[in-house]
Amino acid sequence: MRAKMEGMTSLDTSSATPSKPVGTSKAQLQARKAQVRPATEGWEQAKEPDGRPLLQFKSPRVSQPPVHLADLTLPERQAKLKELGLPAFRAKQLSVHYFQHYTTDPEAMSDLPKERRDDLVKEMFPTLLTEVKRLTTDNGDTIKFLWRLFDGSLVESVLMRYPGRITLCVSSQCGCGMNCPFCATGQAGLTRNMSTAEILDQIVQANRVIKEGGLGGKRRDGGHDAERVTNIVFMGMGEPLANYKRVMNAVHRMAADVPEGLGMSARNITVSTVGLVPAINKLAEENIPVTFALSLHAPDDELRDELIPVNSRWKVDEALDAAYNYYRVTGRRVSIEYALIKDMNDHPWRADLLAKKLNARGRGWVHVNPIPLNPTPGSIWTSPEPHVTRDFINHLIDAGIPTTLRDTRGKEIDGACGQLAAAD
Ligand code: SAH
Repeated sequence: MRAKMEGMTSLDTSSATPSKPVGTSKAQLQARKAQVRPATEGWEQAKEPDGRPLLQFKSPRVSQPPVHLADLTLPERQAKLKELGLPAFRAKQLSVHYFQHYTTDPEAMSDLPKERRDDLVKEMFPTLLTEVKRLTTDNGDTIKFLWRLFDGSLVESVLMRYPGRITLCVSSQCGCGMNCPFCATGQAGLTRNMSTAEILDQIVQANRVIKEGGLGGKRRDGGHDAERVTNIVFMGMGEPLANYKRVMNAVHRMAADVPEGLGMSARNITVSTVGLVPAINKLAEENIPVTFALSLHAPDDELRDELIPVNSRWKVDEALDAAYNYYRVTGRRVSIEYALIKDMNDHPWRADLLAKKLNARGRGWVHVNPIPLNPTPGSIWTSPEPHVTRDFINHLIDAGIPTTLRDTRGKEIDGACGQLAAAD
């Protein structure tokens, strides 16, 4: 799938690194650190006819899945039930079955008239996600699900148990139109946007698996709450802000109390974007305190132009301004994601430049989450050696930027960031 990236590594030591006198001290050696550029890796960026990088913001015109209860607000569900000749309170009962008991089994709905149950379930809960494959790792604490959608599209979600929380990494699109060369999802392009209910059903299905005891051991922090997904990260397949309306409907329903939604805390929902600036500004005005993450990966336009095709639309400084604006409007500290790629973006001077750009906008508004690149099929790009990663982090910390290396889960099952490509 990534055949186009195979090729010889050629080191371009001349560009981007400021020239320094030759010597052997640590600083001098670092200054002479190799500079690999995406284009020299044999990667040829797919282009528009006018020569700009290919970006798919709009979903191709394909049919969406049938309407599901989770696509509707509670008043809309009530209206639909009235249409079906049933009193409005049935909407609440059905919603509780789905959002609280995670069931769509007519047998389990003893509070509904027996003769209508099968019909109602068919009408309100069309099958959206069919499990194709389940891979487990980390002693059962990480599960990757492969789902088939109504039209045959394949998407993945990754469920991870941590001490005191359970995180689900959800997909928001079938494929992705953002064309980032280091991410397996981006290589196949965008098939379509996922519906609100398809996004939410990933959580409900995961909750059902947890309830049935399918996720590793019981919680180990001594708590006694019902076990369910507590944290959502939109870091599965797709660019969530390119599917804005459906993603935001899903977010509102995650945060709404049962029976309207899942009753989760908005703060535990992270929306991650490659940097669609107008959509970031819109998100800031939504009045829902989600956590915001910007996938930056390079502080300089020279490299980011090549690494993140959307940088041709919105530059590093514009993306950072939008991230800062998110903080200013919501008061929520934002995350900067930075996948460290050996000899490409892992230079100490880039850590310094990143810190400078963040500090120029203020203090205490941001933290940086470097993550060593996860391997993707066909790619020869790799993560830096641990001491290079540490050095990069130390440069940021020394400049006063809170920085934590991101824990990466599920690498062995191709379930880690950037590895979701959904083939069965
Ligand atoms: N489109 C969104 C969300 C999906 S990816 C975004 O770009 O933010 C979630 C995170 O994984 C992003 O920060 C993305 O850049 C990162 N990622 C992609 N490929 C990766 C890889 N091979 N190794 C590590 N992180 C990767």
